Amino acid sequence: IRYTEGEGWHDAKVTARQPLTLDPASSVLHYGQEIFEGMKAYRIAGGGVATFRPEANARRFRESAARMAMADLPEALFVEAVDQLVKIDSEWVPSGDGQSLYLRPFMIANEVFLGVKPASEYLFMVIACPVGAYFGKGCVSVWVSEDYTRAAPGGTGAAKCGGNYAGSLVAQAESKKHGCDQVLFLDSREQRFVEEMGGMNVMFVRDDNTLVTPPLTGTILPGITRDSIIRLAIQKGMKVEEAAVDIDELFQGAASGRYKEAFACGTAAVLSPIGTLRRAGGVATFGDGETPGAVSVALKKALTDIQTGRSNDQQNWVHHIL
Ligand code: PMP
Repeated sequence: IRYTEGEGWHDAKVTARQPLTLDPASSVLHYGQEIFEGMKAYRIAGGGVATFRPEANARRFRESAARMAMADLPEALFVEAVDQLVKIDSEWVPSGDGQSLYLRPFMIANEVFLGVKPASEYLFMVIACPVGAYFGKGCVSVWVSEDYTRAAPGGTGAAKCGGNYAGSLVAQAESKKHGCDQVLFLDSREQRFVEEMGGMNVMFVRDDNTLVTPPLTGTILPGITRDSIIRLAIQKGMKVEEAAVDIDELFQGAASGRYKEAFACGTAAVLSPIGTLRRAGGVATFGDGETPGAVSVALKKALTDIQTGRSNDQQNWVHHIL
């Protein structure tokens, strides 16, 4: 779908995937006005295909657009575009355990203009690709980055814009060099409080049956999986604290057993238990470091059962398309 200042959103069409033609002076290529979303379509037990809370992605997309001074895309148009693509590509929605059709709605600024200003022309597109589980079974290992941060107060951390990910790649590469699967970022002011991972939010389970996760202070992405897990945990009778997590206390708490479990959560990763956290000065191990903890397993099951229609969708989260 195209946007121009005069006409608004227009020219919606579904085409076979093909290369894009862009003028070399297109604003996205120079000033990074680009935002995106990540969603999944699942096969539903008993038949059908559905996405999960698409209106939440549509809302976050509008918020990202506002932060990046981009055109406002109505939520209904966002959801309709995704639905249409899923309908056309429904044969590509896989049916195995943990499998889904990954959906990537995104918007770029394509005004041909080299001055620094918000563009007046945009393109909104959705592409799709079948995917399996992001991580294998078992636990992931995570490197705590002390050299890089992901976002600063007043910055773009809460927006899902490409530049945030460009800035995180060097830290992700650093985590691989240390033999870890993922990177964990700390706050940019004190390098002391846990923020989030390269493409996931992070949560911890304390020994008093409390789920602890960093608060939404504007420097982390407000994950839809994060929000869903918080609600499911409350339903299960857990306490939930959205509170700053001091990295030193976390390492000490893992050693003493105060922090029993840790996991990453997001659309791609769903819920991935963390076995070890590593940093320059040491290692924190959750449980035996290899076996997913009971709370992580239960929360993951509760979430994926809803997403795939195996349990009752009391919250009205499942958006049936076919
Ligand atoms: N943080 C970051 C940096 C992410 O890229 C993602 C994935 N979108 C998340 C958190 C989790 O968000 P969600 O649960 O909406 O996928």
